[in-house]
Amino acid sequence: MAIDRFGRNIHYLRISLTDHCNLRCVYCMPEDMTFRPSAALMQDEEVLQLTSLFANLGFDKIRLTGGEPTVRANVVDIVRGIAATPGISSVSMTTNGVLLSRLAEPLAQAGLQRVNVSIDTLDPEKFKRLTRWGSLDDVWQGIVAAEAAGLTPIKINAVVVAGYNEADVVDLAALTKAHPWQVRFIEMMPFAGATEIQVRQAVTAGRIKESIERELGVMEIANQGRLDGEALLFRLPDGKGDVGFISSVSHPFCASCTRARLTADGRLRLCLLRENEVDLLTPVREGATLDELRDLILNGIWEKPWGHELAKGVIPMNRVMNEIGG
Ligand code: SAM
Ligand code: SF4
Repeated sequence: MAIDRFGRNIHYLRISLTDHCNLRCVYCMPEDMTFRPSAALMQDEEVLQLTSLFANLGFDKIRLTGGEPTVRANVVDIVRGIAATPGISSVSMTTNGVLLSRLAEPLAQAGLQRVNVSIDTLDPEKFKRLTRWGSLDDVWQGIVAAEAAGLTPIKINAVVVAGYNEADVVDLAALTKAHPWQVRFIEMMPFAGATEIQVRQAVTAGRIKESIERELGVMEIANQGRLDGEALLFRLPDGKGDVGFISSVSHPFCASCTRARLTADGRLRLCLLRENEVDLLTPVREGATLDELRDLILNGIWEKPWGHELAKGVIPMNRVMNEIGG
């Protein structure tokens, strides 16, 4: 079991399969982003080797992310390998949904259980502006395909950026009246790359909730007030699904954190919002023994930081968001 010095049992691993992406969301990366060469990323067998090692240490839950995980060559085979790894009971993915209409069914067949799809607005023009060229219709087709393939419950992720989609939160929340989905609003976090927007145009979860309730009525707390992952859930009057708020900046949930992250270049990232990392890929490539790798992971997890220091102006600058994966 992987325990940190605060007694948290860390058993949920988010693996970034690639830093590459087929969109360029304004809050995630600059338009002229350069990506790492494929050789610098974990190769398929390295992803599976590390997954197996983490599973041996008690990790049972895997979320695949990116960049955009669906642009990774062999993503279906990687999912199949992870799902078949002894000890892994949950395999999910966070995706922009652009390629899901084609991939949802094979991914589900390979053992993927759920998807979170990112959509920040239901207005096609604003969607294009936020993602720099994305087509909302492609993503919508992707969600339809994911639902048909049984990748449920569907969760929608929305990042709210002042000056872009602040007014769109009402329509997004209203999706939960028609669909049994979870629509989650994520507070924008600052990293390198798009730092200016991330700092100046962030909107707090509290403000988003107020806008929704002004238009759609007061929401009731759901899930008995317990966090679902990182989201605090509410239900609209007559809602079929839930509206969630992930307030990583204004109300961090560090006490209940069970997560660690593996970056696309094979670094164990101990906290999304802190720079601390342990290089695992170099020792794997240098032939480290299982015991040596196990010690690197367990010692790293032991040192997992408690939380972020954004209030003191400490911003993690060693990574752009798409390299860590959210
Ligand atoms: N490409 C996939 C996607 O967009 O869903 C997976 C990777 S993306 C980095 C994971 C999640 O992080 C997405 O829901 C995205 O909206 C969110 N995200 C990206 N940049 C963010 C930021 N600066 N603050 C908060 N969330 C962010
Ligand atoms: Fe790509 Fe996801 Fe970042 Fe948007 S949020 S640029 S889809 S990695």
